Amino acid sequence: MKKILAIAMAALTLLAVGCSKPAEEVITIETVNTPAPVVTPNVPEVTPTPEVFVPSYTEKIAEKKAKNDETIGWIAIPGTVIDFPIMFDTKGGLGYYKLNDEGKESELGSVYVHFNIASADSMGVGQNLIVTAHNNRVAYAKGNYANGFFHELHHIQSVNTGKTNCGFDENDRTCPVTLDAATLPNFSTPEGRIWEISFDGIDAEWEVWAMYEVKEDEPESTLYYNTWWPTDYDPADYEYEEADAAFIQKWIDKQISRSEYAFGTTPSVTDQFMTIYTCGDNHDSKDAQSRLYFFLRQVNPVSTKFGGGAAEAAPQA
Ligand SMILES: [Zn+2]
Repeated sequence: MKKILAIAMAALTLLAVGCSKPAEEVITIETVNTPAPVVTPNVPEVTPTPEVFVPSYTEKIAEKKAKNDETIGWIAIPGTVIDFPIMFDTKGGLGYYKLNDEGKESELGSVYVHFNIASADSMGVGQNLIVTAHNNRVAYAKGNYANGFFHELHHIQSVNTGKTNCGFDENDRTCPVTLDAATLPNFSTPEGRIWEISFDGIDAEWEVWAMYEVKEDEPESTLYYNTWWPTDYDPADYEYEEADAAFIQKWIDKQISRSEYAFGTTPSVTDQFMTIYTCGDNHDSKDAQSRLYFFLRQVNPVSTKFGGGAAEAAPQA
């Protein structure tokens, strides 16, 4: 343990050194008798290669895991209330849609995955990991923000598409929050679109490269296509395709073409992907298909599991 700590401390020291700013240039103020204004150089930090990544959720995961061993990861998104353990139901995979993170019945559910990595790999879909949670917008509208789970994904969507409120307005219930562009993730910045997520042994930073919401009349097949659902759930509606390079390239192109925000990044067919989704804000009766999707790829450290490597790494600033 001491050794791990020592390594972590060394890495932190390196990071601190890497972050130090160059000497500031001297600024000459020509007006006499005026106090010199405080000038804060706003120099964006250029990061040509990813810095050494130090996972920050390790302790939180261990703590939760000690209480419930179906805890397999953590997701936090800066500027939001999203800071939750990720659960995997070893009995059936999807049980946490109605269980809290202690495994007790709760209609609010928790954040959970379709499959852990071992199961996903055995079904040929481990290259696209799925994280989902309810859009508990009614709890949220009542001020129970932490139990809104993925409701704030809608805020991220809205603020990055130029809106000032999230748009939830149904049966006299509206979202009480005015969106704050200064605190919510800003997709035009690396820190706004790159989030740390730990998933069943992968501790990494992930970059969002596409995002969109579909409405209630969306075909059911979209959910299966977007999440590489590994069975012919309804053969009349969706035929499962093997996730080979041709499939993945077409899938990438499709998601970019549907994206509501132009991220300007191009994923590779060798990337490790993650798809995060939640329900749409309106009209998501149990039969409707309204959903909000975020598509991410692992960028730091870069995944080599599917043939990718450091050579093609690096999110562009
Ligand atoms: Zn809202």
